[in-house]
Amino acid sequence: RSKEMGRDTLCVFDGPGNIKISLEIGREEELRRAIENEELFLEYQPRVNMITGQILGLEALVRWRHPKSGIVPPLQFIPLAEETGLILPLGTWVMKTAARQAKAWQDAGLPPVVMAVNVSARQFCDPLFINHVEEALAESGLAAEFLELELTEHTLMGDVTGALNAMNAVKALGVRLSVDDFGTGYANLDVLRNFPMDLLKIDRSFIDALPGDQATKSMAGAVMSLARDLNLTVVAEGVETPEQRDYLRGQGCAEAQGYLYSAPIGAPDIARLLGTAC
Ligand code: C2E
Ligand code: MG
Ligand code: MG
Ligand code: MG
Repeated sequence: RSKEMGRDTLCVFDGPGNIKISLEIGREEELRRAIENEELFLEYQPRVNMITGQILGLEALVRWRHPKSGIVPPLQFIPLAEETGLILPLGTWVMKTAARQAKAWQDAGLPPVVMAVNVSARQFCDPLFINHVEEALAESGLAAEFLELELTEHTLMGDVTGALNAMNAVKALGVRLSVDDFGTGYANLDVLRNFPMDLLKIDRSFIDALPGDQATKSMAGAVMSLARDLNLTVVAEGVETPEQRDYLRGQGCAEAQGYLYSAPIGAPDIARLLGTAC
């Protein structure tokens, strides 16, 4: 069982050739079936204005209702999905389901909010990706301005030219783009400046450390001021305490996502939250 892979992998070393038999194939089959059998579902986490508390957007986060293991969090199956290519059907399912849900809420008369969806590198680099985005919009009837795609620095810096082309195609549809987990990657700021991004989400590891000591605060402050220099909306991820909120507000960060406001919750709970905001 190899721990560092973060999931159940059994390695059997058999004979002089150290033949490795991996049970991961079984896990891949399970995940393939999960996508077909609709064992996946979405929760949504609000992104709020820290001053007014108003909900500005929602992030769709995938979960797996495993028949035996119960609810499996994404970090336990997204890496496998990325390695095996299953992230393509999985990611398309997430995007289409989230778009359909956002449109259904609008049709029910709830205040319209942006729906953000996480996109893996492999998915974003797929030549058919742009078609899937178009399909998600056409099939749901959701206006493009309400769909946002979250990319990581890793995705953007892998193949800069390819990423820029894909981003321009997405922007041409009117879809919004954001950088997720900002500050954890190795994005070249000059490159980032030339990307058509709308929003930066500052990684939770910076927020976790707040208020903290002076050095910690300077780090978080530096990341925020970089984000602002790029002229982008800044969102703090993983805000859990009033102290963090107060510090961030003091730094001029207006938007946040985190347990202080709401954990990711199911669709009926989101509908209730949006309803009370009417
Ligand atoms: P992420 O996109 O950075 O999403 C934010 C994660 O932080 C979520 O974890 C969320 O539940 C958690 N979080 C939010 N606020 C707080 C807080 O105040 N405190 C703490 N401790 N955690 C908080 P989750 O749902 O487990 O997702 C983990 C990661 O899995 C996501 O990170 C994203 O990278 C990936 N992921 C989730 N859904 C999808 C998907 O549909 N497609 C892809 N490609 N990746 C996904
Ligand atoms: Mg995200
Ligand atoms: Mg993040
Ligand atoms: Mg992430």
